[in-house]
Amino acid sequence: MNSKVPILVVDDRPENRLAIEAVLKSNDYLLVEASSGQQALSHLENYEFAVILLDVQMPGMDGFETAFHVRHNQNTKSTPIMFITANFEDNDRMYKGYEAGAVDFLYKPFDPTVLRSKVSIFVDLYRARKEIIRQSELLRLEDSRARDSFLENALDAVIGMNAEGNIIYWNKQAEKIFGWTKSEILGKRMCEVLIPIELRQLRDNGLETFRLAGIGSILNRHVEITALRKNSETFMAELSITPIRSGDVDTYSAFLRDITDKKKAELSQKQEHQKLLESEENLKRALSVRDEFIGICSHELKTPLTALKLHFQMDKRLMDKNDPKVYSKEAVEKRINSSTLQLDRMTKLIKDMLDVSALSNGKLNLETEKLDFATLVTNVISSFEDLFTSEGIEVNFLKQDPSLMITGDTFRLEQVITNLITNAVKYGNGSLIEIVLWKEDSRAHFKIKDRGIGIEEGSLERIFSRYERAISSTNISGLGLGLYISKQIIDAHQGKIRVESQKGVGSSFILSLPLEQVSGV
Ligand code: ADP
Repeated sequence: MNSKVPILVVDDRPENRLAIEAVLKSNDYLLVEASSGQQALSHLENYEFAVILLDVQMPGMDGFETAFHVRHNQNTKSTPIMFITANFEDNDRMYKGYEAGAVDFLYKPFDPTVLRSKVSIFVDLYRARKEIIRQSELLRLEDSRARDSFLENALDAVIGMNAEGNIIYWNKQAEKIFGWTKSEILGKRMCEVLIPIELRQLRDNGLETFRLAGIGSILNRHVEITALRKNSETFMAELSITPIRSGDVDTYSAFLRDITDKKKAELSQKQEHQKLLESEENLKRALSVRDEFIGICSHELKTPLTALKLHFQMDKRLMDKNDPKVYSKEAVEKRINSSTLQLDRMTKLIKDMLDVSALSNGKLNLETEKLDFATLVTNVISSFEDLFTSEGIEVNFLKQDPSLMITGDTFRLEQVITNLITNAVKYGNGSLIEIVLWKEDSRAHFKIKDRGIGIEEGSLERIFSRYERAISSTNISGLGLGLYISKQIIDAHQGKIRVESQKGVGSSFILSLPLEQVSGV
């Protein structure tokens, strides 16, 4: 602000220049002399003046011509010009002066006070203009500082690149995310340090494409990429690269955000959703299985009930007719046997259902004792003899070891063996049934094999679940509970039960139970 204000004094006569300088002599002004229009223009190329005091009559390039050049130069066109002339008698010359770009006139001989005050006005204007420029420069600086600090402190990594893909800007967040400091990374190729090898080609091509065609496959949009930290760790990032074209020069600003947490959250949300879908699916399946079970169950209960009712109705008719047949010992015995059979069926059904409900409440109480599993199996097989005979079924029973001592619940284990034999009869198509008992790996093994309808592979696992049947409910009656209950009982004995089967060929059910440890051996 305190620097001297330059003023250009143009006059071919040194005495005139001296006279002006004498009047304007001040510490505030820097008076620059020019003895010709030519010299004035050459000064104007190097300095900016507050005002040009320009003599009109000069040899060679006169004042008007000099003013014309000043006005037509981009850099000097607004510099004020004050013409100094001795003979402004006619208006024509006056107008010519204004047309040439004069701002003011001063007539010789001039009054020093008038010269000083006129010049001081231009000086004030000059200073005011300078101050405005200074202020706006300051504002611009502030603005760019604010912008820099905004980028520097942005929550995204902000990376600047030149057309070759070299890093020219690197903010704090970029340091934090990638682990490279500004001084380490500036000048390095973005692709080489931040993008995993397998993806480098793609990114490079993106920039190259932009350079060649002005369109970039990865430019101006958000892309998810795998990025690379300094410690070689990869992470998921969202990247957007914006090209900035200034003249012929391309630079790129890349904004990058670490989305590892977002991705994790998305994944776990997806998994949760998947789980929800699965459990909904399971629930639906369980409901439909339950509905089918209720249907089968009522059918199973209705069958023996209808049979019983028919017997009673027939007997009542005979009694009404006073038919002696109805009272004979044979007839009563037949009635009792057939009713017992139906009642047994219903009892078994209800027992199974009670077992299932006890099992689902976790209330399977075992009454264990030391027992011989071989004897237990032999007894159960004997109880089926009548059935085998009536159905014409041949049974091969091979007891490889005479005694298999275990600890278990006799009643529950009989239930399991009964169920397996019943199934072999039910699904065995009257084929040969083979039963084998043996000892192996400190366990008692039992295998029952039939050559019946078999089970398709897809159903092998689920038949041990509640209400699950491998065949449609219309074929062979059953509730799909026997194997479920059997498995629960065997599990409670630390035993194992499994099935080997082939559809149309037959099935084998194999179970094993831990043998009683013989002490003193
Ligand atoms: P249920 O016989 O009352 O249906 P189970 O739980 O005893 O119930 O058996 C479940 C299913 O396993 C049966 O419905 C049948 O599809 C299949 N299954 C069991 N044993 C055999 C077998 N020996 N041969 C073929 N399929 C069998």
